Amino acid sequence: MSVDIDQRPIILTGDRTTGPLHLGHYAGSLKNRVALQHSHRQYLLLADCQALTDNASDPAKVRRNVLEVALDYLAVGIDPTETTICVQSGLPALAELTLLYLNFVTVARLERNPTIKDEIQVRGFGRDIPAGFLCYPAAQAADITGFKATVVPVGEDQAPLIEQTNEVVRRLNRQIGRDVLPEAQALIPSVGRLPGIDGRAKMSKSQGNAIPLSATPDEIRDAVRRMYTDPNHLRAADPGTVEGNVVFTYLDAFDEDRTTLEELKARYRRGGLGDVVVKRRLEEILQALLAPIRERRAALEKDPCHVLDLLRAGTMAAREKTQATLDDIRSGLGLFSFEQPENRLAS
Ligand code: ATP
Ligand code: MG
Repeated sequence: MSVDIDQRPIILTGDRTTGPLHLGHYAGSLKNRVALQHSHRQYLLLADCQALTDNASDPAKVRRNVLEVALDYLAVGIDPTETTICVQSGLPALAELTLLYLNFVTVARLERNPTIKDEIQVRGFGRDIPAGFLCYPAAQAADITGFKATVVPVGEDQAPLIEQTNEVVRRLNRQIGRDVLPEAQALIPSVGRLPGIDGRAKMSKSQGNAIPLSATPDEIRDAVRRMYTDPNHLRAADPGTVEGNVVFTYLDAFDEDRTTLEELKARYRRGGLGDVVVKRRLEEILQALLAPIRERRAALEKDPCHVLDLLRAGTMAAREKTQATLDDIRSGLGLFSFEQPENRLAS
């Protein structure tokens, strides 16, 4: 058995393989992951099983995007020598943990989870909610605890899921009688949730309102041009509203020159600043942010075998880690085992 001498706090986070990653991922999570990968032992999970919970009719999309999301990770600066990138469906211990955890969470609690409630509404499931979708918070608890992670850098929409994970952790620890699993802390950036370019509450791969990290210069220009602003700000001379104005929300997230940004906001509120000028500023910032990411991605795309090798090695390492946790839980709960002497008939 290998002894883990790495004392760094463990990070587990990941993404559903439903499409290429976008600016919301960057602001909400990727930036933190790149910054923390040296001080933490980081695992990134390509969540293809979770992606299936609302994409069962399109497994090909889910499979295709495993490589796409991995390319995005590497393109934004995830260093595979520091971070372990792994594929969820290659980690059977996580599926087994999920099955166990489903007995430590109620249907009523799953239905009350605010993230799940929102997502069910956005997806228009009505009463036809796939059981896997309703139960994915248990699977996410398995992902996080499977790695014994204590830090989870996620977007604000994920906070209720981390809370539910910790409820499962407490119930299991109580049942087992000692702290087998650590509680996890969500690391949520101050920018909050990045809205879609259409003004909807969340930029999302599934909603067609995203700017992918791999967008071309023309796509970036076009997305900024179409961006939702203040519908009552018809002429440059009119006073405009900054709150809820997507262009300003994006500037808040990506413009590092805070002084100029505050001046622009004041001018916009007073009147005399047109949408075109503000959009031009945002476009410049986004073009500068995304150009090096796109270039690195293009270079990596030339050698997909190299990326697949990284994923294979990462998944093997993660398999060992998650299996060890499953063994702890099984023996903690005192489940049947052929190895245990108490299973022999009393003589
Ligand atoms: P899907 O539409 O398939 O659910 P998604 O765009 O919501 O895709 P996920 O894979 O569900 O992306 O989310 C991965 C991570 O990125 C999560 O931590 C989530 O909080 C974060 N994230 C996603 N979208 C945003 C956003 N618009 N703003 C901030 N963080 C986000
Ligand atoms: Mg999502």
